[in-house]
Amino acid sequence: MKTPLCPSCKAVLPKLPQRKTKCKACGEYMFVKSTPDNREKRLMTQAQADAAEQAWTDRYEREKVETRAQLMQPALAGDRNAVLRMIANSQDPEELERWWLLLIEIDLAKLARQGVRTVQLTAGKARDRLCPVCRALDQSIIGVGAGARAVMPENCTCSTKGLLSVSGWIKQPNGSGYVDMSAGSTRSVPPRQMPHRNEERAGVSWRFTLVVFGMLFALLAVAGMLR
Ligand SMILES: [Zn+2]
Ligand SMILES: [Zn+2]
Repeated sequence: MKTPLCPSCKAVLPKLPQRKTKCKACGEYMFVKSTPDNREKRLMTQAQADAAEQAWTDRYEREKVETRAQLMQPALAGDRNAVLRMIANSQDPEELERWWLLLIEIDLAKLARQGVRTVQLTAGKARDRLCPVCRALDQSIIGVGAGARAVMPENCTCSTKGLLSVSGWIKQPNGSGYVDMSAGSTRSVPPRQMPHRNEERAGVSWRFTLVVFGMLFALLAVAGMLR
């Protein structure tokens, strides 16, 4: 191994520093960094370290641009995973919204292909994070041909987009279960067989438990008074 030298004054160092260290000979800081073209960590001056940081930033930016270029075609062609990755790789709010709209369109089209005629919008646990416009849409039922703007309206002000999702399952008015709205199949399913609604079911059973305890408590109180 080479003798470690201070990158500023070339003084011989007792051992190779593992992190930012001040040189005892010249008082300058030395940094331990690698660059995209040479992954070996080595000692650098402040200026070299800044340049190395910049090189890494440029590298990441370039990779992001390349990833986006690769994903663009499949995303526009309706590849759901590609759209999801575009969403993960976008920062511009307007662009994000366009990808979310495309994702909703893909989901609605898929449900339509499966023969589903009507879908229910649901945000599940995320209901509290919906803007007022979207909150009014939560649990509402739309036709699969209604278009993406029926799920994400133009005047939506949610800080996180895409919280409302579509499903072909519609809750029965009395809350007893769900109906699959696929054409030719309107079979009912009790809530515990529904795959997607864990949080909602948990909410219902929690409320149910509360009611049961409340009734028990009332009974005990009445029994106590009668004694
Ligand atoms: Zn030095
Ligand atoms: Zn909203």
